[in-house]
Amino acid sequence: MVLRALARLFPNDLAVDLGTANTLVYVPERGIVLDEPSIVALDTRDRTVLAVGHEAKAMLGRTPASVQVIRPLRHGVIADYNTTEKMLSTFIRRVHRPWSPVRPRVVICVPSGITQVERRAVHESATQAGAGTAYLVSEPTAAAIGAGLPIAEPGANMVVDIGGGTTEVAVISLSGIVYCSSLRIAGDDMNDAIMQHIRKSHSLLIGERRAEEIKIALGSACPRQTDSEMLPVKGRDLTTGLPRTVYVSGAEIREALREPIAAIVQAVRSCLEHTPPELAADIVDKGIVLTGGGALLPGLDRLLHEETRLPVRVGDDPLWCVVRGAGRMLDEPGVLARVAVPV
Ligand code: ADP
Ligand code: MG
Repeated sequence: MVLRALARLFPNDLAVDLGTANTLVYVPERGIVLDEPSIVALDTRDRTVLAVGHEAKAMLGRTPASVQVIRPLRHGVIADYNTTEKMLSTFIRRVHRPWSPVRPRVVICVPSGITQVERRAVHESATQAGAGTAYLVSEPTAAAIGAGLPIAEPGANMVVDIGGGTTEVAVISLSGIVYCSSLRIAGDDMNDAIMQHIRKSHSLLIGERRAEEIKIALGSACPRQTDSEMLPVKGRDLTTGLPRTVYVSGAEIREALREPIAAIVQAVRSCLEHTPPELAADIVDKGIVLTGGGALLPGLDRLLHEETRLPVRVGDDPLWCVVRGAGRMLDEPGVLARVAVPV
């Protein structure tokens, strides 16, 4: 009784989207209080954490030998346990009010492909960081709720969440996942494809961050009016080793992105093939919702529509759908109990 009153006075629950590219934290009544890259800078000598988030991202590709910058969730699996734990607890501590008399409930969204051992590790780090109770939820379910889909009703909801390391394709009905597949091809692979293209076609080496900037400035999945605009790109010449500038066009970047995009289209088709007929009929009416940063790639919705002949829309603020959906679960304990993944 007293505890509940205190909990109301010190609302302290957290929803965390532990993404392969970005980690977000939502606090009821305060909104999104943290939005940082899932990146950690470590001292190579003793593995202590030097920086996390934006600060660590700024170091990417610019570090001396004593510093290593890593993305612990890179391909949607927890490549580096200890570092994931350190990152998660740093982020939680940053927003959690340590003076609060109640320990928070924490909902954490994890890629659906992670193993049970990895789920336990995430759960453990949340508890270590001060969580009273930690619930793990799979990303596509949270994305669907965050995009405003009525997942508790009978009827298919299809969501495609395109993140940095993984693309999650899922059909959800009655709060349960009917079909889900996690493809290890997403935004990072688009960046890689751009790096390779610039290297092959222009003999220029560029870094990952620059490739991402080019993708965001020029990338697309369908022809656009701005296709002939040229963007200067600086890098290191492959043969002379000297810095040089080349000019690239939107049309050429779209061509470079063709393979990763085709893989995403294929994953969507395969999900549709695995969906039971009754639910497939619902999808014909309700269509597909795209979430995650990759949903912002211009023309991806149009391409998916052309390839599937289904209605396709991008969720509002696609980068925030997962954390918003997780936040909604904090208000609805019934939903949370139904969708939480056992650890
Ligand atoms: P995750 O859930 O894996 O952390 P996010 O949903 O945060 O991933 O999405 C990050 C990915 O979205 C990155 O690969 C980033 O480059 C990509 N992205 C962000 N904005 C855009 C954009 N405007 N166009 C294309 N890709 C984008
Ligand atoms: Mg995500």
